[in-house]
Amino acid sequence: MLGAMQDFELRVPRVIEHAEREYGSREIISRWADGSETVTDWAGIARDSRKLAQALERRGIRKGDRVATLAMNHSRHLVAWHGTIGMGGIVHTINPRLFEDQLAYIGNHAEDRVLIYDRMFQPIVDKLKPQWKTIEHYIVFDGDGPDSFEAVIGAEDGNYTWVEGDEREPCMLCYTSGTTGNPKGVLYTHRSSMIHAMAELQPAVFDLSTQSVVLPVVPMFHAVGWGLPFAAPMAGVKLVMSAVNDGKTLCDLMNRERVTHTAGVPTVWFAMFQHMDATGEAPQHLKVVTIGGSAAPRAMIERIMKMGARVNHAWGMTETSPIGTMGAPTHDWDELSFEQKVEKTVFQGRAPFGVELRTVDEDGTILPRDGISSGRLQIRGPWIIKQYFQDANGPCLTADGWFDTGDVAVLHPDGIMQITDRAKDVIKSGGEWISSVELENAAVGCPGVAEAAAIGIYHPKWDERPLLLVVRKPGSDVTAMQVQQHLATQVAKWWLPDEIRFVESLPHTATGKLLKTALREQYRDFRFAAAG
Ligand code: AMP
Repeated sequence: MLGAMQDFELRVPRVIEHAEREYGSREIISRWADGSETVTDWAGIARDSRKLAQALERRGIRKGDRVATLAMNHSRHLVAWHGTIGMGGIVHTINPRLFEDQLAYIGNHAEDRVLIYDRMFQPIVDKLKPQWKTIEHYIVFDGDGPDSFEAVIGAEDGNYTWVEGDEREPCMLCYTSGTTGNPKGVLYTHRSSMIHAMAELQPAVFDLSTQSVVLPVVPMFHAVGWGLPFAAPMAGVKLVMSAVNDGKTLCDLMNRERVTHTAGVPTVWFAMFQHMDATGEAPQHLKVVTIGGSAAPRAMIERIMKMGARVNHAWGMTETSPIGTMGAPTHDWDELSFEQKVEKTVFQGRAPFGVELRTVDEDGTILPRDGISSGRLQIRGPWIIKQYFQDANGPCLTADGWFDTGDVAVLHPDGIMQITDRAKDVIKSGGEWISSVELENAAVGCPGVAEAAAIGIYHPKWDERPLLLVVRKPGSDVTAMQVQQHLATQVAKWWLPDEIRFVESLPHTATGKLLKTALREQYRDFRFAAAG
């Protein structure tokens, strides 16, 4: 048939070129860890990205090589992404909150060749350097001297043409830790990132345009910064980035820069509310507040809605780029009472075009979207994982091509998805994972402990914190303090349970595994005394 459309590979560098051409003078403000601020614009980001691409090539970095970052949010981190991807490299964002052995593992597994990091993470770098086998170049975002980011890009002229290629080539790598074993890498392609970013712009998702002023509180190392480093230049928004996320700093920045959109985990809002209560100040210009990564609590939703902003309750995963669903207003929004709006917003929202959801029962039978049937949530689409990075197990999909999220959900007749439970055995504290299984294994290593079960309990500040239920060995009088002391030698401090309770026995499945669903049900209304 005569006639066709152009082949136009959906490659990430097209976005930064677009931002430079169409919105070149729209600003990017960075507030650094030391309190100083810098201002650049999309033209500046594009120029510096070209310079970084040249600098990386000068250091022998080639298409497909991994360039790691260990950094908070700021304009140079944005340049590191767009410069690396522009020369065909793959950006590997490292989460500085991982444990030492996980950090060592992922650097080596990713075979990173360069690490660009914030000075505040120098102690991590010093500790890990001898263990990272493949990193040849270390560059400091906010350093001085020849290894500083500014010196490295300052030596280049920016006369550079982006590397071309297939849109299915990889551009980003992000590891996710969860249940047990080593973290797993999610490898995003140019195509998946671009389609995901385009979907994010729409009113039913982030609702972005060049009128938006966006402060992404979510760190860039958390699930691709929720795609905002790609969606922001696509729409030409003004971006406000902060390396520190305390309530006062964020509130001041939001008011001074007239921030309209922000995105982060619920814990961020807990800190903001404390600041608001203590000072009487409040962000004045917010229109869309996206909360995700953990369930947004009802009281938080109500308070932000009363501030006059729309609450976008998002659900997603590192494996889903991360947008899976978004709780944007429904068609009848204007007719709903405040209470009805809150009722809808506590659920996790709908799938934007590109994402398909279904729930299945234990046998894999697809459940009706009736607002009652609860089952494992499965997902598919062009920005959903097919296989973990360098994973010999092959694709991580069902036989008919769906990714099982490990979440348990109900689909409502109006399309809204509601997370009701979690089949995977993990606790999410302040947006970071605690493995219940590892906590239990560590606990049973304590003399006098026969069996232990860790479950997540709602906590107003951290979303969830661990409660450890312990069965003593016959004749043992082991104390909670002794168990805590033992655990402290085995796991990171922030993994330690908020409370240890001794029980006579724990419920089990027919195959002898701990019956976590029963425990979670039993302790659904339990609250830690200290948490109020
Ligand atoms: P991560 O890959 O670290 O972003 O974690 C993804 C997981 O966080 C999901 O599979 C859910 O268990 C949980 N999660 C994310 N967003 C929400 C939400 N809005 N409500 C409840 N759980 C969520």
